[in-house]
Amino acid sequence: MGKIGTPVRSKRLGWIFALVVIVPGILLAVIAVRSINREEAYIEKQLEGTLLAEVVYLVSLVETELGRIERDLADSAPLDPISDPERLLRQWRETTALVGSTFLLSAQFEILWPRVGGDLDAGELSFLSLNSDFLSNRLEVPVFQDIAAAFEDEIVAQQPEQEKRIAGVERQLARSQFEMDEELQERIYEQATEEGLKARPRVLLPSAPGAEQQEQPPPSIFISRDLRLDEITKERDQGLISRFVDDRLSLLFWKRLADGRLVGCVISDTGLRDRLITLIPQLYTAVRILTLVDEQGRPLVAPEESGSRDYRRPFVARELSAVLPLWEAAAYLTDPEAVISRAQRVARVLWALISILFVSILAGGILVLRAVRAEVLLARQKTTFVANVSHELKTPLTSIRMFAEMLKTGRQRSEVKRREYLSLMVSESQRLTRLINNVLDFSRMEQGRKQYARQRVDLLSLCRETVENQRPRYEQIGFDLQLCREPSADAALWVEGDPESLKQSLLNLLSNAEKYSEEQKAIEVVLRREESRVHIDVMDRGRGVPASQTRKIFEEFYRGEDCLTAKVRGSGLGLSITRRILRDHGGDVLYLPREGGGSIFRIQLPLAGAS
Ligand code: ADP
Repeated sequence: MGKIGTPVRSKRLGWIFALVVIVPGILLAVIAVRSINREEAYIEKQLEGTLLAEVVYLVSLVETELGRIERDLADSAPLDPISDPERLLRQWRETTALVGSTFLLSAQFEILWPRVGGDLDAGELSFLSLNSDFLSNRLEVPVFQDIAAAFEDEIVAQQPEQEKRIAGVERQLARSQFEMDEELQERIYEQATEEGLKARPRVLLPSAPGAEQQEQPPPSIFISRDLRLDEITKERDQGLISRFVDDRLSLLFWKRLADGRLVGCVISDTGLRDRLITLIPQLYTAVRILTLVDEQGRPLVAPEESGSRDYRRPFVARELSAVLPLWEAAAYLTDPEAVISRAQRVARVLWALISILFVSILAGGILVLRAVRAEVLLARQKTTFVANVSHELKTPLTSIRMFAEMLKTGRQRSEVKRREYLSLMVSESQRLTRLINNVLDFSRMEQGRKQYARQRVDLLSLCRETVENQRPRYEQIGFDLQLCREPSADAALWVEGDPESLKQSLLNLLSNAEKYSEEQKAIEVVLRREESRVHIDVMDRGRGVPASQTRKIFEEFYRGEDCLTAKVRGSGLGLSITRRILRDHGGDVLYLPREGGGSIFRIQLPLAGAS
């Protein structure tokens, strides 16, 4: 009877809660966590895209510039140096910043200049010693070529017909197809090696996402074939040749003259570097450093930095040209930590938002669930309350009517019996009054309309009166009801309050003591003064209140959860109203277990005049 909400209803609510709140909440959290994890990679990817665009643009600038350099050299080269090669070629060197040591070869690759045994300076001598074998067509040197261009047919053959036609520009298609497809790369490199072509490893190892698993730099996209000078110059009139001497790259320019001789020069390293450096749009920003890196992995130009940076580990990089093998355009993050911490910051904010959202959904859901459960419980308690109250009203009414009818017939001659009937009628009607008072008080309190007729009340007299009044009835049903006054309460105990309400509180406790006592029918009311307060203990020898219920018994409509309570009639309002009345008087009612079994319900009230 006590706990009224049935488990079936609660279970259903639990399921609804799980379906409506927990399941979508968990789904939401899973989706959010996955997208947070992607967010970090996404931020890096975005940055990679932006920087790659800059790098690719720089590569295209370098390619154009190399063409321009070749043209400039062709235009400035002497047209007929044969009459006085020494003067004309030296003059070429002196007037053109890009020109280093010069050379002149016959159509049969005899070195006409610098002439061995001639009056040569140190630069010309060292040039001769490093290059004479090659210039006189006795030494093969590696000549570089874009692998995608060399194997264009094989790569494009992989493409569906239609795509080839739409793309139109097959070389570009081949290059991008090659870059995207790792399997294809492997196959083509293998094929190149089989055909005697060589692929050197790149000097740089980009660290942007995707490349980060690699430990070793990948092979260069510029592969080389060993050729002699006659093969290199066979089908063209001018060109640039990249020569590795002791792993250092130097560029040679050559041009065929009208009579078949070849004139040319080493391109001055500083001249070349100076021209290329001017191409870099902006060396560094807050985000990145953009530069060109040579075959030794050294930047052509770098911002002055306090810390040392590993220029071999750019964020993104692209190889430049077959003319400058192993040179790359590369972008570095100015502050790599900043990118990571930015990603982490975004992730952290998202985490916080999701946690807050999830906790609020859960907390909101639990609150709603609890509110609904409380409502259901209350509704059920109210229904039971109506049934209990109707029953409680009916029983005293029935007895009053029965005794009244018996008296009316006048058949009962015994005066003693008649008095007994009358006093039973009085006490039953008092019980009725108390019950009705409780119900009325409860509804007034609910509506905030309860009013107290406050005055000075002597609690000693009030208790004495009430106990004396009740004693006959209690004795009749076998109870021993005693009022004890401790020495501290030897005079009147004045309090400020509504006497009717205070009496009602005491009667509620007395009635409970009667209802919840079993074999030992003894009730004691003890009055005591405690400093500025009065304590009235209503003590019985009943079954007491289990520890788990000592708080709940003061809640509205709450009734104990045992079989004795089930047998006893009640509304579940008595203690809650008593507590409200006493709190409205600045006091309270407490439950204390009684030594030797039973309950103590203690009324506490402040004495009048005391704060
Ligand atoms: P009611 O008595 O109508 O059930 P109350 O608000 O007066 O409602 O009491 C609430 C519950 O407290 C009771 O149902 C009972 O379980 C418990 N209770 C109250 N007084 C006593 C008492 N003197 N001894 C044991 N249990 C009590």
